[in-house]
Amino acid sequence: MKIFFHLGKKVPDYRSLMHEQKDFILDGRVIPVSRLVIADQTHSDLVHLCREEDCGAGLGDKPQIPVVDGFITNIPNQFLLIRTADCTPIILMDNKRMVVSALHSGREGTRKNIAGKAVQLMQEHYGSEVKDICAYIGAGICHKHYEVSEAIYSEYNDSLSAMGLDPATELHRHIDIRKGIFQQLIQAGITFRNIDNISDCTFESPEYHSFRRDGSHNRQINLVGIIHE
Ligand SMILES: [Zn+2]
Repeated sequence: MKIFFHLGKKVPDYRSLMHEQKDFILDGRVIPVSRLVIADQTHSDLVHLCREEDCGAGLGDKPQIPVVDGFITNIPNQFLLIRTADCTPIILMDNKRMVVSALHSGREGTRKNIAGKAVQLMQEHYGSEVKDICAYIGAGICHKHYEVSEAIYSEYNDSLSAMGLDPATELHRHIDIRKGIFQQLIQAGITFRNIDNISDCTFESPEYHSFRRDGSHNRQINLVGIIHE
């Protein structure tokens, strides 16, 4: 068994997937839609521990997993899907215990530390050791292009400071989500060398859907699963 993951670009996209509801190819591998798990994504810090019967959630008549913004599974051939367009996707994996997680960490998810919570849950519920967990931070909006109101800026900074993190950026009222996530993963105990980072900015790069740039309602597909191989 091995872990398969994909941090998305424009294609294949979430809107086409929802429209077609057909198995699709990702990096040369057929992903069966009946094995996908899709969440509501409400900018929470809640992470769902998947069961076999969650397969197909968010497809056809089967409702999305409500409220949550992340998943963890150790079930083979179950694919955790997170959609993003400026918010940052995170994939966590433990190759030793074969446990995977996909997270949606935008401003709110990062403010609430969904990344740290997922690492904790992998340890508590799946026996992962933090030294075995690798993290991949996908493309999101960079701090230069992410200016917010004074109120939102203060709320974000206060929350991260309260966690003992340093949210400061050189631009006032700009939020650096990637930096926040990175600090949270380190604080959760993940080793520096086990964190990989796609530093692309979704706003800047035409290779990505960006809500802030285009008002786009389409999304990148980010996915992880354990496969037989
Ligand atoms: Zn940017």
